[in-house]
Amino acid sequence: MASIPQLTSDIGTIADKVSKNFMAQRLDGKALAQKIQSQLAIDIASQSETLKRPPGLAVVMVGDNPASAVYVKNKERACDRIGIASFGSHLPAETSQTEVANLIEQLNQDDRVDGILIQLPLPNHLDAVALLNQIDPTKDVDGLHPENMGRLVRGEPGLRSCTPAGVMAILREYSIDPAGKTAVILGRSILVGKPMALMLLEANATVTIAHSHTANLPELCRQADILVAAVGRSHMINADWIKPEATVIDVGINRIQDTTSGKSRLVGDVDFASVEPVAGAITPVPGGIGPMTVAMLLHNTVLSHRKRFND
Ligand code: NAP
Repeated sequence: MASIPQLTSDIGTIADKVSKNFMAQRLDGKALAQKIQSQLAIDIASQSETLKRPPGLAVVMVGDNPASAVYVKNKERACDRIGIASFGSHLPAETSQTEVANLIEQLNQDDRVDGILIQLPLPNHLDAVALLNQIDPTKDVDGLHPENMGRLVRGEPGLRSCTPAGVMAILREYSIDPAGKTAVILGRSILVGKPMALMLLEANATVTIAHSHTANLPELCRQADILVAAVGRSHMINADWIKPEATVIDVGINRIQDTTSGKSRLVGDVDFASVEPVAGAITPVPGGIGPMTVAMLLHNTVLSHRKRFND
């Protein structure tokens, strides 16, 4: 008996929204990222006398992955804009494990460098985990070193991985409090899904992590007050997966070929057009979590710089 009124009221809510042309609130990651970067630029300028040198970030890229090249350029431009010094290295695809390891060691020792980021993915012959583990944890601005992951698990302060930290920042900005909410995360990578789950748990959400072996995905996702999609499958999630009024965070970045124009463009894991009239709030792709990830990287670099001088 209980399920019939529930279903009716859900249908009513969707129908009401469509008839009133309801659209979810767009969570504007691009605008928030700009706001964060402007604040960081002010902080850097105001501390330039006391801290003697600007914050420094080294982005290490190996090989010629075109998407990585664009991401690295964006990060270095953002550094320039706000006053972070870049010490990036672009190494040829055939660089050996030892050569990359030697470079990481040099950067660990370099007093001008506060943050080291290895741009992933690396060429197949390189052991990415070993290289990530070699980064000095105090310079691990991507938050992927076991020490920083361990601190996250234990709820201790430390450098937090940028993409999930960006998601938490956008939720805070729009006063979406995860406490007491049901959160479902699609994807269990070390880069996104797992740290995302821990951060939402830390914020008192009740968290489920789904992956490629999870049964009844749409049904599970329909229970989510907060749904985070990080699978890397274009438009996999449509309106049928969404609880009315849910907050939908689309981390996915997928390049597809536009059938009409023939040009390629970026889309998320969420079918934005179908989900927007059902959700309560949604991040677009592009302009959602992508720019937030860069803003969090800069934020971590500034944090690491300040800590280096204050400790
Ligand atoms: P990943 O390492 O490939 O992990 C993908 C996860 O999705 C895995 O846990 C996988 O499950 C799961 N998955 C794949 N297909 C699925 C399916 N059909 N049903 C259910 N689960 C499925 O990817 P990632 O590094 O986490 O990145 C995910 C997406 O986020 C990508 O599009 C990436 O480009 C994007 N991304 C964006 C940013 C940003 O700044 N916005 C940053 C990082 C990543 P299994 O574990 O079972 O294989």
